[in-house]
Amino acid sequence: MIIKESPLEILNKVFGYKTFRLEQENIINHVLEGKDTLVLMPTGGGKSLCYQIPAMCLEGVCVVVSPLIALMQDQVLALKDLGVKAEFLNSTLNYNDERKIIEQLVNNKLDLIYVSPERLNTEEFQQILTKTNVSLFAIDEAHCVSQWGHDFRPEYTKFYMLKDLFPNVPRIALTATADDETRIDIIKNLHMGNCKTFISSFDRPNIRYIVQIKDKERKQLLDFIKTEHPEDSGIVYCISRKRVEDIAEFLEKEGFKVLPYHAGLSKKIREENQNKFIKEEAIIMVATIAFGMGIDKPDVRFVAHLDLPKSMESYYQETGRAGRDGLPSDAWMVYGLKDIVQINQFINQSTASEEQKRLEKRKLNSLIGYVESVSCRRKTILEYFKEDYNIQNCGNCDNCINPPEIYDATIDAQKVLSCIYRLENNGFSFGASHVIEVLTGKETEKIIKFKHNKLSTFAIGKDKTVSQWQAVIRQLVILGYIKVDPVHMSLSITKEAAKILRSQIKVELRQHILIPKKKKEKVEQKTYTTAETDNELFKKLKNLRLEFAKKENMPPYIIFHDKTLIEMAAVKPKNLEELSKISGVGEHKLNKYGKAFLNEINM
Ligand code: ADP
Ligand code: ZN
Repeated sequence: MIIKESPLEILNKVFGYKTFRLEQENIINHVLEGKDTLVLMPTGGGKSLCYQIPAMCLEGVCVVVSPLIALMQDQVLALKDLGVKAEFLNSTLNYNDERKIIEQLVNNKLDLIYVSPERLNTEEFQQILTKTNVSLFAIDEAHCVSQWGHDFRPEYTKFYMLKDLFPNVPRIALTATADDETRIDIIKNLHMGNCKTFISSFDRPNIRYIVQIKDKERKQLLDFIKTEHPEDSGIVYCISRKRVEDIAEFLEKEGFKVLPYHAGLSKKIREENQNKFIKEEAIIMVATIAFGMGIDKPDVRFVAHLDLPKSMESYYQETGRAGRDGLPSDAWMVYGLKDIVQINQFINQSTASEEQKRLEKRKLNSLIGYVESVSCRRKTILEYFKEDYNIQNCGNCDNCINPPEIYDATIDAQKVLSCIYRLENNGFSFGASHVIEVLTGKETEKIIKFKHNKLSTFAIGKDKTVSQWQAVIRQLVILGYIKVDPVHMSLSITKEAAKILRSQIKVELRQHILIPKKKKEKVEQKTYTTAETDNELFKKLKNLRLEFAKKENMPPYIIFHDKTLIEMAAVKPKNLEELSKISGVGEHKLNKYGKAFLNEINM
C-alpha cells in the first residue's frame, strides 16, 4: 500500500492533536498494513480517528458504513470543517447532489464516503464501488450485526459480502460494546476470522460517579445542578413520560433552559428538541431512555438518573454520554427502596418468558449491587464488564472521595425485624413508613387504632432518624432479610432473618450519610483546569464560537471543543503561530477561524 503521509503528521496538521491516545497508533499501523481489524473502545475513546487517519494516509477512498443518519451528517460536517474531502450518501440527498457525489467518488476526489447500511447493500452501489479505488471499509457500530444486542440491524448481517467482492480491501469494524458474545458475533458474521482485535480499557476516568439515597429528589437534583453545573448541558433520565414532563416543568420554573424528550412527543418535536440540545449551549434535556442513541455531543457535563436504569449495561451506556471530550463530568444518581421494588414489579408483571424474567432480575441485582456498593464504583463497573482494575481508590467516585462508614448493625437489624414480626403477628402487614413510626414511637391515629403503641417494639428506635431507619430497612431488603409485597409495599421477614434474631449472625451495614461531603479537588488531567483559565475570556470565546456556529448552521463543538477554548483562555496565544500549538487547532481551522479568535483573545 502506498502511504501518502504519516499518521502522526495528519494527526498534528489536520486535527491539531499532539499525540495518539492509547491503542490508536497500533490500530492505525495495523490497518495500514492492509489487515482486518476489530476495535473495541469506549464511547469518546477516539474510534473515528482509527479509520479517518488511514483514509487520509492511503490512496483511494475509505467507505464508512454507519447506521445513524444524523451522526453521519455530523461527522462529515466536522471533517469538512477540518478541510477533509468527505461526503455522505443517504436518503436525505436529492438526485442531483447524489450524482455529483458519486462522480467525485469514482474520480478519486474523496478521502471518505459515509453510507447507510441499506445503501451499501444495493447492487447498484456495489457496482459503483467496483469502479472505485477503495482503500478501506470501516464498519461503525459493528455490534449492530449481533442479534443479541439491543441495536440489531438486519442489513449488517449481509456485510460479509465485502470480503467476497473486495478480497483485497482491508476492513476495520468498530464498537463500544464490549461483551464476548458481541465480539464473537461480529467476527463470525463479517467473516473476519483473521482479524486482530484491539481492546481498550473501558474506563472513563473523567467521569465522576455519584450515587445517593433518594430523600427529596427534586431538592437533591436542584442542589446538584446548582452547585456543580449551573451553566452546563446535561441529561436527566426519568422512567416515564409523566415523570419527564413533571421534572422538566420543575427545572424550568427554577430558571433553567429545559427540553423534554420521550416517545409520546411527535417526531417533529423530538427532532427539534434534539437539535436544540446539540446546537445551543447550557440546555438540560429531561428524557426517557428514548433519548441518547447517536448523540455525539462532546460537552454533555452531567448525566443524572432520577430513576434506576434497567441494568449495568444501560447505566454505563447512558452515563457514557457525559464528557466525551475528556473534561471532568458527572454521572449522578439517586435511588430508594421504592425504585427497587417498582422495577422488580415491572419484571414480574411483564409478559416475558420465565427465562427472560430471570435474566432481567439477574441484571437488576447486579445494578443493585452497584448502587449499594461501599467500594470504588469504577472498580465495580469495570469488573462487571470483566476488566481488571487494579487500583483500589480511583479518587473520582463518591465511595473513594468519602469512604462510607460500615458499622455493626446487628442490634438495629434485630429491632427492625422483631418490629415487623410483631406487626405481622397482629394479622396485618405494614409498609416501611408505619414500621418506622412504630420504631420511633410516633402516636399516629393508625398506631393508636391498631394499638401498636402497646407493642414491646414501640419506640425502641428513638435513637435514629427516619432516614436512618429507611437506610437500615433498604439494606436488609437487599440482603434478603426482609421481603416487600410488590402490590401493597408491606414488609415481612424471611426465614434467613431468624438467624439475626437469634444472634447467630452479625450484620454489617453502611452508615447512612445524608448529604455526602462535596469533593473539592477536580480530576487530575493534563489539560488546563478551569482554575487556570480566564473565565471571562472563556465565555467570550464561547460566544464567538456560537456566532460562527449560527452563521454556518452547525453545532458549536464542530468549530472548537470546550477543551480547545479552555486552553486558549489559559494560554492566551498572541499570534497564529502560538495559536496553532493549542490542541484541536489544525491547519484548516487556523486559517478559517484563527484571526477572529486571536482578536477576541488580545482585545
Ligand atoms: P468515539 O467514536 O470512540 O466515541 P470519537 O472518535 O468521537 O470517539 O473521539 C472522541 C473525542 O476525542 C473527539 O472529540 C476526538 O476529536 C477526540 N480525540 C480523538 N483522538 C484524540 C487524540 N489523539 N488527541 C486528542 N483528542 C482526540
Ligand atoms: Zn472510586
